[in-house]
Amino acid sequence: MGSVQIVTTILAAGITAVAVWLAVRAVMKMTAVIRLGQPAPERFSDKGARTRKMLVETAGHTRMLKWGVVGAAHWFVMVGFIVLSLLVLEAYFEVVTPTGGLPIIGHWTIFGLATEVITVLGLVGILVLMAIRVRNRPSRPGGRSRFTGSTMWQGYFVEWIVLLVLIFGLVIRGFKVATDHFEYPVWATPVSHAVGAIVPDWSDGASVAALIKIVISMTWLIVISLNVTMGVAWHRFLAFPNIFFKRDPEKPAGSGLGPLRPMMSEGKPLDFEEADPEKDQFGVAQVEQFTWKGLLDFSTCTECGRCQSQCPAWNTGKPLSPKLLVLSLRDHAYAKAPYLLAGGGKDLTGEEKATQAQLAHLDVLSLAEGDKPLIGTAEEGGVIDPDVLWSCTTCGACVEQCPVDIEHVDHIVDMRRYQVLIESSFPSEAGVMLRNLENKGNPWGAPQNTREDWTKGLDFEVPRVGEVDDFEYLFWVGCAGAFEDRAKKTTRAVATLLNEAGVSFAILGEGETCSGDPARRIGNEFVFQMLAQQNVETLNEAFEGREKAKRKIVATCPHCFNTLGNEYGQLGGEFEVVHHTQLLAHLVSTGKLTPVQPVDGGVTYHDPCYLGRHNRVFAAPREVLGDAIQGELTEMPRNSERSFCCGAGGARMWMEEKIGKRINVDRVEEAMATGARTVAVGCPFCSTMLNDGVNGKGAGEQVEVVDVASVLLRSVKPEQPRGDKEATPVAG
Ligand code: SF4
Ligand code: SF4
Repeated sequence: MGSVQIVTTILAAGITAVAVWLAVRAVMKMTAVIRLGQPAPERFSDKGARTRKMLVETAGHTRMLKWGVVGAAHWFVMVGFIVLSLLVLEAYFEVVTPTGGLPIIGHWTIFGLATEVITVLGLVGILVLMAIRVRNRPSRPGGRSRFTGSTMWQGYFVEWIVLLVLIFGLVIRGFKVATDHFEYPVWATPVSHAVGAIVPDWSDGASVAALIKIVISMTWLIVISLNVTMGVAWHRFLAFPNIFFKRDPEKPAGSGLGPLRPMMSEGKPLDFEEADPEKDQFGVAQVEQFTWKGLLDFSTCTECGRCQSQCPAWNTGKPLSPKLLVLSLRDHAYAKAPYLLAGGGKDLTGEEKATQAQLAHLDVLSLAEGDKPLIGTAEEGGVIDPDVLWSCTTCGACVEQCPVDIEHVDHIVDMRRYQVLIESSFPSEAGVMLRNLENKGNPWGAPQNTREDWTKGLDFEVPRVGEVDDFEYLFWVGCAGAFEDRAKKTTRAVATLLNEAGVSFAILGEGETCSGDPARRIGNEFVFQMLAQQNVETLNEAFEGREKAKRKIVATCPHCFNTLGNEYGQLGGEFEVVHHTQLLAHLVSTGKLTPVQPVDGGVTYHDPCYLGRHNRVFAAPREVLGDAIQGELTEMPRNSERSFCCGAGGARMWMEEKIGKRINVDRVEEAMATGARTVAVGCPFCSTMLNDGVNGKGAGEQVEVVDVASVLLRSVKPEQPRGDKEATPVAG
């Protein structure tokens, strides 16, 4: 070992020892913070499916690749990071001797070839990612960026480190080529040989370059260890467990889509019959009341801003960005952690748990963090502003986009639950809706005995459950379908089409009550449970003696469709629920309905969030429309998985939209820009929102918003009176 190698070896060992010590400390700190969360035993089920999903999602980059170029570039960088870690290991042999290399595999040509290819592709990948970050930097002139609010220096730092590590890998090889100590052939390592042609034949060059490579790598480790909230770096390790422990490993898309989690306390679903707010947790009032998986979610966020770029609230000037919400919760959790780890925290009655002695050594900042209300305005020192919390439409665009499977909607609703159930703090205008749900069983407060009024004037009888011996489908009409004038036309259209196709169906009539969706999404789990239990009882009675496959329900409202199909199982109600567009598509494809007259003037389709993104029903409504217009749909730029919310979900239908641009107006402008005269929808709330948007723009004469079922009915029975446009909006 020469004198140069003595110095390089000592320096490499020294910086590595410091970096490893700091990294171990950081991992222990992070683990301690995540363990502060509440139990979530359900996350350990079905380990086989979880492992498979984790491997497919990471190795296949299935979620990242939704954004083609970024996904592909990131894949090469990820593979480069894993495989080229071996080359960092090899650098430790090279600081000792410039001709050194990894034992055994370091002599294989295939190893030389593989690492060469991955280095080159990794270089291309990181340069692409760097260019994308610079092009989308928040400070660029004009426009909003998905990186707005991200810690930009951290992203640049990580990318430069990757770039330099890759470059120095080639420089080491170049010195070995130049000094004739490189054993791989030119065909396998052409780039290394090219670098070798331009560097001097310095015998110690490989050792010095290897030291620089180690110093760069260990600087990265030291910096991220000193910044445990640096998700852009830590996600390289945390993404694996975060994906493994996702809510539902079998789900094809975001696992936080579809049903909401039940309200949990101590890892068990809360039973409202026995629940006591002084002993049981009602939603989330403190950051440590999230589950440990919630805290892992916050730690894993890469700050990529994909969620932010798709969020309807953020895109229309509201203060909510799912990314910034996650980052606020993360930063608060880590800042509050010393106080919590010292034994601090409030019990469920709001009393401090720690003694003065326990908190005596804490610094004032972490004590102050412990006092911050989780939900509160800036003046109150709150972590999350109420306007942020109540801006969410629960549309799921954030969950759909997140490459590391963060479950934003669950976290938002958990915080709402505490605000509604314990603090009675929510936008006051939604109070009428909640009172109507409790007292009248529907959000409008319409009399229950008018639930069947929509059947009046039909030229066939609509049977009620109990009046007919048998029926194939229970037609779940929903509150909008029964009480809201425009939605009633959809209900009548669906009933007419089912009758035309000879489908045997029956309705519950006055036996139906609200599915509970608006109560659940606003956070009033108590009212949801009350309504849902009543409906589950009624439905179980209606289907008595039938196996699940024959307990078929067809619903016109995607919110009912989601709640009945995905959430009633939590209360003992197992049903096969289809959306009316799915049933209609089946009836057309099997020849039971025949469109005869093409609907002209151009048609575009707005995907309802709870039908599309939350439940992956994208094809059926398009098939029905394709048959009805006997041609091609005109798609909006934001469609299917990336569809833009109408603004009504998450009980936003019942709240005023006072901040920023109206979401429905944004969507209507996009629909109108297609030039289509008909905007087809599959949800009564989307219909109301988009009709309001069209009327607000004074475009009611040029553009019509109408349900898919009505479009089909016009094609199947062109003689049927239309009347959709003349309908008066919203009763009550
Ligand atoms: S659910 Fe929709 S509105 Fe809510 S944060 Fe996510 S993207 Fe934004
Ligand atoms: S998409 Fe996921 S990882 Fe990216 S910023 Fe949003 S929450 Fe974080």
